[in-house]
Amino acid sequence: MISRIRKKLTLLYSVIFGFFLLGFIGIICAGIVWTVYTDRNEEIKLLAKGIAREQRQTLLDHRRNPVQPPAEMSIEDDHDISGQVFYYVLDDQRQLVKVDMPVPVLRQAVYAAITEWTSSRQTKLLTIPLSTENTATIIVAEESVFSGSTFLGTVYVGRDVTAYARVLMRGIIILITAAILFFVLAVFISYYLAGRVIVPIEQSIERQKQFVADASHELRNPMSVLLTSIEGVEMDKDNVLSPFSRQILADAKDEFTRLKRLVNDLLTLARMDAGDIRVKKENFCLDTVAEQVIRSLRAAAERKRIRIQLKATTSVKVCADPERIHQLLYILVENAVKYSHEKSKVAVKIERSATGVEIVVTDNGPGIRSEHLEQIFERFYRVDESRSRAIEGSGLGLSIAQAIVNAHQGKISVDSSLGEGTQFIVSIPIN
Ligand code: ADP
Repeated sequence: MISRIRKKLTLLYSVIFGFFLLGFIGIICAGIVWTVYTDRNEEIKLLAKGIAREQRQTLLDHRRNPVQPPAEMSIEDDHDISGQVFYYVLDDQRQLVKVDMPVPVLRQAVYAAITEWTSSRQTKLLTIPLSTENTATIIVAEESVFSGSTFLGTVYVGRDVTAYARVLMRGIIILITAAILFFVLAVFISYYLAGRVIVPIEQSIERQKQFVADASHELRNPMSVLLTSIEGVEMDKDNVLSPFSRQILADAKDEFTRLKRLVNDLLTLARMDAGDIRVKKENFCLDTVAEQVIRSLRAAAERKRIRIQLKATTSVKVCADPERIHQLLYILVENAVKYSHEKSKVAVKIERSATGVEIVVTDNGPGIRSEHLEQIFERFYRVDESRSRAIEGSGLGLSIAQAIVNAHQGKISVDSSLGEGTQFIVSIPIN
């Protein structure tokens, strides 16, 4: 249980730390990208304004004396992209008037972006794949040119910002790598911290277990004395008791018997926790023990007209603790009888398996809802309190059964369908 708490705490701390880290990295990345982008954006808008001012005269001349669109007027036709600035001047009919071309690899994409420009946007960021596996990042701004209130045309100014994009990308990769490394470190720190946190929990659980062990040990003897005293009073022939007193005595005996069983169960679990109960292994026939268990539960089964059937090949020998295996079988078969309807059937099957022996206890009782199946092995867990309250029990039986199976390095599982029945499967290794 303690290791489960530690794992859960580690997971919780790691998730919290992960979220903080993610938020921190996200904010830093977004902040850097935003700052660089707004800077470049402002820069290109200013540049566009300047070029628009310069080209106003060109557009006015063109208006007076229209010129044919230039085929290609490359002022700079080198192949160095870095930081390159280019522009397109379009008249009011969106005819090309003047152009300072970007390098050939960018032309098609830039021209397509200009012709598809939506008027609502003032700047655009273009990512253009280059022949080498790289990409170029270009920022383009649009600026309208007016003479008074007359619209003369539009200027599109572009600039290569690949170097900025590359530095940004590298920065982001470094930040993400650092975040992953810090997260791994955080998982280790979380594990360490969880270990520190559970120390007092562990100590308090230990103290609690010790208290339960001491208390149940101290209660056992007076309980037995009281029970024997009641039985003595009941058996005393000279004692004349009214029917009312006899009933009270019988009820008290029932309650003390229940209490004695609860105390015994608590003591068994406390001792198992403390490792005081060692498994005393010996060779014995499992089917013989199963027969004894069924015999001792026959009276309870007959009261509900339940038939207990044993299906076992003779002499299924195991090397285990016979007392504990008897207790395990008793818990499973008693539960099957206790929770089954009248006139139903309980089957106990014992057979050899590849690795040891398998014990299967099946009933046609009410079944257990799937959401309870994992919890029924927990201490004091009882399904459907209203139904269980009518049936005697403490919720400790299956915890003891599981502890016995674990002490034998075996496995216990449950399979149940609501309204159809329940099956407990126990496998115990041969040695
Ligand atoms: P209890 O003393 O209540 O029987 P257990 O630990 O033996 O405690 O069982 C835990 C709970 O599991 C029970 O309260 C019961 O609701 C459920 N349970 C156990 N065995 C069966 C069964 N064969 N059929 C239906 N419910 C069962």
